[in-house]
Amino acid sequence: MCGIVGFVGKNIKVDYFIDGLKKLEYRGYDSSGVSYDDNGKFCTIKKEGRIKDLEKELGDIVNKNVNVGLAHTRWATHGGVSDENSHPHTNEDNKISVVHNGIIENFQELRKELISRGHVFRSSTDTEVIPHLIEECYRGNLLEAVIEAIKKLEGAYAIGVIHSEEPDKIVAARKGSPLVVAGNEELSIIASDVTPILKYSKEVNFINDGEIVELFGNNYKIFDLSGNPIERKPIHIDWDEELAEKGGYEHFMQKEIFEQPVSIKSAISGRIKNGQPCVKEIENIKSFIENDLKKIYVVACGTSYHAGLAFKYFMQNHSDINVEIEVASEFRYCNPNVNKNTLVIAVSQSGETIDTLEGVRLAKNKGAYVLAMSNVVGSTIPRESDSVVYMNTGPEIGVAATKTYTAQIAVLYSIGSQIMKWKNQYSTETEKIIKDIENLPEIYKKVLDNEDHIIELAREYVNYKHMMYIGRGTGYTAALEGALKLKEISYIHASGYQAGELKHGPIALLDESFPVFAIVPFNGLREKMISNIMEVKARKARVIAIVTENDEKVIEIANEVIKVPETSEDILPLTVAPVTQLFSYHIAVLRGLDPDKPRNLAKSVTVE
Ligand code: GLU
Repeated sequence: MCGIVGFVGKNIKVDYFIDGLKKLEYRGYDSSGVSYDDNGKFCTIKKEGRIKDLEKELGDIVNKNVNVGLAHTRWATHGGVSDENSHPHTNEDNKISVVHNGIIENFQELRKELISRGHVFRSSTDTEVIPHLIEECYRGNLLEAVIEAIKKLEGAYAIGVIHSEEPDKIVAARKGSPLVVAGNEELSIIASDVTPILKYSKEVNFINDGEIVELFGNNYKIFDLSGNPIERKPIHIDWDEELAEKGGYEHFMQKEIFEQPVSIKSAISGRIKNGQPCVKEIENIKSFIENDLKKIYVVACGTSYHAGLAFKYFMQNHSDINVEIEVASEFRYCNPNVNKNTLVIAVSQSGETIDTLEGVRLAKNKGAYVLAMSNVVGSTIPRESDSVVYMNTGPEIGVAATKTYTAQIAVLYSIGSQIMKWKNQYSTETEKIIKDIENLPEIYKKVLDNEDHIIELAREYVNYKHMMYIGRGTGYTAALEGALKLKEISYIHASGYQAGELKHGPIALLDESFPVFAIVPFNGLREKMISNIMEVKARKARVIAIVTENDEKVIEIANEVIKVPETSEDILPLTVAPVTQLFSYHIAVLRGLDPDKPRNLAKSVTVE
């Protein structure tokens, strides 16, 4: 999990690398480095810490013009966080420089063999074997040497390689980790995703597993592992570069929370119209759904799992379609009952989550039809699945998922209601929910107007060490996500429970030092939630209730209330999300933490 960026061309400023790395910093940010040509020799500068530390180290060098270079922002997997372990890694005479994203599983054997042949290592990373292997394979042609060397590698990688004897090119290769390439009149660029590229070109080519790309001047060529050229037209990416900037907000996370009226609209556009689902992306499986579908199985991790859980409640509340869900890292180990009558929905914001990707591979082996849901066009999970529905929310830079979570639920509900329709189970009740989704942009504007009130609450609760979130039905799924968001970015211990489970154990934790968020829908579950609130209060714990407007009864008993507009129960995770997101965000800011880059986490989880 890291970010790679490389340029070839004339008069490339070292600053271009820094700018590119900053856009990729969400992928990893424990150290960074750059290698560039300097009058026929490579200069490599690496620094533990954030990109700004590398920038400081570079000083005036950022204004230097170079013709080729590679840069990397690291999220360590092998070897601690240090200057030596930062990328790029070079061979002994520094002629070959390599950046790598992923894990080389057989690095120990390779390293031993290389040492026995006289190679000297300077880092404790798995990556360092790569420049040494390439050195052994090099006979005057970098492309051929890289092809030969990567055949010896086991594991996952996206690599970029430069050689000072061919200072006009980059050779890059991928197996398992993402890589995107593009060119314009002046230069060619390689990167881990499109965000550093958009400034230079919107016509990009996604490199597939087992492909090598050679960048030279302002052009590039793709090859297979036998060195045969592959012709593939670039894909046009419609994202605006400005979309990837902070747009006046203090942090990307805050910007992304406030983008939800727009992102939700874009997620459902063309998929829901006048209370009716119209999901074109799954039209090709209409007959499979009508005739063969027996079960839907959702495979996802983290926040995407919570979106999937809300979908399961929605489907089971309104149809007789059986929906199962499993955390992707367990899906592979629980011998899931999946076959040719199963629709597996693989949900991953980045489209690169390795646990989910492995789940996709297993489901396909078992004969299931796999539908991917991702926010990143051309990412690996969509490419390996049978079809894909993109969330269309624009880039999400903050590491904690916000707008992509609400988009996931809305898109999953659209897909689910389309399936109900084809199965003749689309009721007027479901139509009402779908209409509520269409109203979400307006509802979100109202919910987000509560920010000042949420800031006040955050100030009051910033010093607590633990919090609990409880709910029932879809409110329970919202509780899980609320708790996850808080722990992810504020490092306050938080857990989500089914409110009914309190008395079976967790209530033992409660006292005046342990506040509880209670998510209270205005329906049949309300009275039961009120009883749970009373149980909590009897243990002297403070209660922050998220209630629908005008729920006077709960307003009277809770210590604090945050009101959200009244909608059907199924919509609750969608209306509650901006509240719990903003609460977590402001707690993190008040604690002096950077909510965009929580410690130990990365946006795209490409390691198991
Ligand atoms: N395995 C490599 C390392 O630990 C690369 C990790 C990454 O993808 O950032 O340096």
